[in-house]
Amino acid sequence: MGARVLDGNKIRDQIKAELAGQIRDLKAAGVTPGLAAVLVGENPASQIYVRSKVKTTEALGLYSEKIEWPATTSTEQLLDLIARLNAREEIDGILVQLPLPPQVDAKRVLEAIDPGKDVDGLHPVNIGNLVSGRPGLVPCTPAGIIEILVRSSIPINGARAVVVGRSDMVGKPVAILLLHNHATVTICHSKTRDLAAVAREGDILVAAMGKAASVTGEFIKPGATVIDVGINRLTTPEEVRRIFHDPAGPLGELEAKGSVLVGDVQPEDVREKAGAYTPVPGGVGPLTIAMLMANTVKAARLRRGTRASAGSRS
Ligand code: NDP
Repeated sequence: MGARVLDGNKIRDQIKAELAGQIRDLKAAGVTPGLAAVLVGENPASQIYVRSKVKTTEALGLYSEKIEWPATTSTEQLLDLIARLNAREEIDGILVQLPLPPQVDAKRVLEAIDPGKDVDGLHPVNIGNLVSGRPGLVPCTPAGIIEILVRSSIPINGARAVVVGRSDMVGKPVAILLLHNHATVTICHSKTRDLAAVAREGDILVAAMGKAASVTGEFIKPGATVIDVGINRLTTPEEVRRIFHDPAGPLGELEAKGSVLVGDVQPEDVREKAGAYTPVPGGVGPLTIAMLMANTVKAARLRRGTRASAGSRS
């Protein structure tokens, strides 16, 4: 019997439908949540991400503002922009697309964002709230991973969870969220010894290392739930042949589309060994933007809540 596919697109649609109701209530109370997306430079991946974030913001009927500045922008100019966005009442969320150009002090810029408008959840105040279990804005991809697990009825309480990757944006916050949901959590990284053996202990295995298909069958406990966060683009037939046991289909895709998307988990192995898994594409990715929208609505409610008594889950 094949592993169960955890369909991120379906869960994203559920979340968006719930948000639409909350947005309707907020608007009836005179509040239109607003998101400002700041893009610096011309990184093609960042351009695609921001375009898709703005599109979703508009589709949900939120107020959206896209601010595009050249790659030569300085830290001081960005700090000035953030101060102005912090002061504007109609802006509830400020999203600074990463990475920023090398001359910009990204930490200073992120720390300048009003924590109440920090919809990426990367401000130290929100990180502190997350770690100590206080209400706040939680990073989007980790929050999306928990939504996938909970809405798919994957038991977290008491489970052994292994997270591979310790970044501030994904690995660390997802580990904290799993811990708050009563998993026993192990965090792995590039210095972990015998990674496959440690990973194999996970009833839930989260792969967030940014290395194409590097979590192979020997990393997966039979029947485990595998969450694949990675997004890696293969662009040559050699790469495709190296990664896939049966490369015919992906080679056809490469020829047709110019690239093949794979996660950090070997897609054929996970189908064979896992009990449930998120595919790439169509797993974790769709949740990231949905949770950005959820954070924007939450930020609007928390900040302007006295005037809007919208019902909500959190
Ligand atoms: P980072 O590069 O910031 O972090 C990668 C982490 O993985 C580091 O902690 C690193 O360890 C660890 N690592 C790298 N190689 C290995 C290895 N061989 N064995 C064990 N650990 C390793 O990446 P991010 O956390 O930002 O992103 C991870 C992946 O998720 C990327 O593919 C990214 O594109 C994707 N992503 C997807 C999103 C989505 O919406 N689906 C959103 C955000 C990211 P160390 O600390 O020791 O260097």
